[in-house]
Amino acid sequence: MVVALDVGGTGAKCALVRPDGTVVHAERHPTGAERGPDAVVGTILDVAEGLADRARADGLTPRALGVVVPGVIDEAAGVAVWSANVGFRDVPLRKLAVERLGLPTALGHDVRAGGLAEARLGAGRGTRHVLFVAVGTGIAAAHVVDGSAAVGAHGAAGEIGHILVRPCGPRCGCGRVGCLEAVASAAAIGRRYAELSGTPGSTAAEVVERAVAGEELAREVWSSAVEALADGLATGQALFDVQTIVLGGGLVRAGRHLFDPLRTALRERMTFHREPRLVAATLGDEAGCLGAALLALDSVEDR
Ligand SMILES: [Zn+2]
Repeated sequence: MVVALDVGGTGAKCALVRPDGTVVHAERHPTGAERGPDAVVGTILDVAEGLADRARADGLTPRALGVVVPGVIDEAAGVAVWSANVGFRDVPLRKLAVERLGLPTALGHDVRAGGLAEARLGAGRGTRHVLFVAVGTGIAAAHVVDGSAAVGAHGAAGEIGHILVRPCGPRCGCGRVGCLEAVASAAAIGRRYAELSGTPGSTAAEVVERAVAGEELAREVWSSAVEALADGLATGQALFDVQTIVLGGGLVRAGRHLFDPLRTALRERMTFHREPRLVAATLGDEAGCLGAALLALDSVEDR
């Protein structure tokens, strides 16, 4: 049994998980990032300790703790280097957790952990080379080979959202112009449609709905986002040569209205590269928490 926490900007998904990935108990807590980083760390440690106590009360033995957070994470050092969403800057979270709970602790990145879970327990199960791409407010990825996600030299691997796809495109949150995320994230699609149509507050889901209903402007916005996403995925495939690309995040709810044109656009971009299988994530918003559990398990046993 391991204790797993996926701490996001607004909420934390927390669970007790068996080695086979079965969730025995799950709870959710608000992150309360507005209270400052110290209070958030306090909540993380309280919730983790509460879950470990709960396991013991049920006669189970918690063997390790896994915590994942967004941002730049130095997994080897166990330090949350930079995480704007939860206000962390150089927080030695692993050390603090070990001191408080006395359990071996793994610290990881939320999207990389989600990709790890999809590759091992979800849509990528049974394939050795998986690229997990989460398309929501932003776009981020995890490259998983043989059940391990590449971390990078600086804890920042997988930032596929900042591949340049439209040199004359809109400005990205990172400051540069034309990043994939600035064109094809759910947030960018809603924003683009709002700009062109003069309908403020449009969402990507509404754009898809209107496009399917045959509205010309929505079709244009949707198809240019799909084309940009295909450019990003084709770059991913050129770099990683995977068997399976697992798409997760809010945009996946568009179903075949996303996958049909995206598969076609991706196929058009393949020359000598092999076309990857393109599938939807199956673990939903539990992926990060399950990934945290896998990191915890990996830290105490040889798979
Ligand atoms: Zn960017």
